[in-house]
Amino acid sequence: MFLTKGAKPFQVAWFHFFCRLDFNGDTGIADAFADVESLFARCRFSDCRHDTEPGCAVKAALASGELSRERWTAYSRLKSELAREETARAESSHRYRK
Ligand SMILES: [Zn+2]
Repeated sequence: MFLTKGAKPFQVAWFHFFCRLDFNGDTGIADAFADVESLFARCRFSDCRHDTEPGCAVKAALASGELSRERWTAYSRLKSELAREETARAESSHRYRK
């Protein structure tokens, strides 16, 4: 989308909306899954991958029903989706530097 001199205010608004989506994707997730991310602080290890680690608060919350399996799956999927984007972006910027 190109912003010309005659751009309507709503076009500018949309432009900013997409910019925010693009650059603050991770912040958006933290907001939407604040309850999930607050569990991480309770994990025994700060670099916990919430997989097979002992003392994982996420696994405990899943076992007790405090956190639903669906919500955790949605969160993990979104995270890996973002990580893939991040990698793709890093690779393309690497190509640009060459
Ligand atoms: Zn954990």
